[in-house]
Amino acid sequence: MLSGQMPILILKEGTSREQGKNAQKSNIEAAKAIADAIRTTLGPKGMDKMLVDSIGDIVVSNDGATVLKEMDVDHPTAKMIVEVAKAQDSAVGDGTTTAVILAGELLKQAETLIDQGVHSTVITNGFRMAMNEVRKYMDELAISATDDSTLRKIALTALSGKNAGLSHEFFADLVVKAVNAVADKRDGKVVVDPSNIKVDKKNGGAVEDTQFISGLVIDKEKVHPKMPSLVKGAKIALIDSALEIKKTEIEAKVQISDPSKIHDLLDQESDTFKKMVEKIKKSGANVVLCQKGIDDLAQHFLAKEGIYAVRRVKKSDMEKLAKATGAKIVTNLDDLTTSSLGKSEMVEERKIGDDRMTFVTGCANPKAVSILIRGGTDHVVSEIERSLNDAIRVVSITKEDGKFFAGGGAIEAELSLRLKSLAAKVGGREQLAIEAFAKAMEIVPRTLAENAGMDPINTLIKLKAEHEKGHKNYGILISENKVGDMEKEGVFDPLRVKRHAFEGAVEVATMILRIDDVIASKKSSAPEGGAGGPGGMGGMPGGMPPY
Ligand code: ADP
Ligand code: MG
Repeated sequence: MLSGQMPILILKEGTSREQGKNAQKSNIEAAKAIADAIRTTLGPKGMDKMLVDSIGDIVVSNDGATVLKEMDVDHPTAKMIVEVAKAQDSAVGDGTTTAVILAGELLKQAETLIDQGVHSTVITNGFRMAMNEVRKYMDELAISATDDSTLRKIALTALSGKNAGLSHEFFADLVVKAVNAVADKRDGKVVVDPSNIKVDKKNGGAVEDTQFISGLVIDKEKVHPKMPSLVKGAKIALIDSALEIKKTEIEAKVQISDPSKIHDLLDQESDTFKKMVEKIKKSGANVVLCQKGIDDLAQHFLAKEGIYAVRRVKKSDMEKLAKATGAKIVTNLDDLTTSSLGKSEMVEERKIGDDRMTFVTGCANPKAVSILIRGGTDHVVSEIERSLNDAIRVVSITKEDGKFFAGGGAIEAELSLRLKSLAAKVGGREQLAIEAFAKAMEIVPRTLAENAGMDPINTLIKLKAEHEKGHKNYGILISENKVGDMEKEGVFDPLRVKRHAFEGAVEVATMILRIDDVIASKKSSAPEGGAGGPGGMGGMPGGMPPY
């Protein structure tokens, strides 16, 4: 758009603007700063970050995505980097730190080239060429397997970075069991839907009390003490409307002149609930799981019929229950029939810590399982929850794809080596960019070594020498603080995670390199909630109190 014939762009006086090399430099600096901030969390010896918000709530985590999500980032470029981490996390659940530090390093290498007078278009071209080759190399280098012992190693590698209460083996087994339980075959292909694994947490107890449940756990107790605590051969009604009498919108006043009429009125109310429960009973249901409230009177009648009832079940749980038990979610009780009920072998209220929870086990469709995490404090169970969710994702991915690499920086070191020999063949100015890409790849093994307290330069030299000898699975053997065979060690990262991390890093680095102008734009005129940004909101309707 900004061609030579265009009229001069006139910016308001005082509009902040950065152009050309300055814009590029400050963008690169911001991206590098973010990458630097989370570098120390990479790998099993990575440190944790403690994030404190303005009211003093803390999150302690070693997970790149979590740290970046919680960080209060202001710079627009830094935000782009944070987006990469988020995208990586939501697409594959792991490899976020890798994606971010690689993006930071690509930009750092690019900066050196820019300083030498190489144009950023040449650099981005070279990066694109390199990434195309990387995709091919990755397919060649991938190791294939889907047996349980491999899946366990994948889980262990994903968990090893986290301080999940040091019970990695225990959790790895749990994750493999859960993924195997929900794995399905469609058109001859294995598919795993991680959302069929419900991870729930309840603080209290020991980490080892974490349990695997083949079924669903709902964090709710039965509504009435007289209801049975255990229902065998459960026939489950899922109702997403309230078992209450609707309050009228208009405030109604009923005047009663004759005291005996009060009884009539109460009887009427009680009749309504009796009828509701009648309908439920007639369907054959002995368990009612309701997404909304259940009136006291309705509770009473349900208890009288020996029906187990739970109220205010989360919508997401209702959906999982429907899938697992084969029930149809019913809004109108008149639609409740025997065929809309779901089935499970057992519905039971169990005491977990100080709370009571509802366990729905032995479901008609067993492809729904739960993991109930226990652990001393909220921080512990929350970090375990995040770690397990990551491990579930990577194991699911590997179960589906059956392709992975030797970790510990082995794949990055091998890609780096191959890119270097490619660069020599390409020649021209792009050669420099491909070499820069190859150097950037080394950030992963280097950081792993650094974080493990090893000498990064010597380690990298040794690592490169091994790869030149054809030891393509050599990486940073953290357990022994030396360079060694990661395949033997069983440190594995899924292909899909690595590919996504590399692609995300290259994409954002390219995007940032192409920016040569940062101009403050108009503020959006409709701030959410009316409390957007201080000052400058000339278009705001009057009546906003000054603060
Ligand atoms: P990310 O957010 O990128 O997943 P992590 O902190 O989980 O960051 O670290 C992942 C890196 O740590 C991967 O390169 C992985 O291969 C490596 N890694 C994990 N476990 C080990 C191990 N036991 N020895 C060496 N490297 C390991
Ligand atoms: Mg990880």
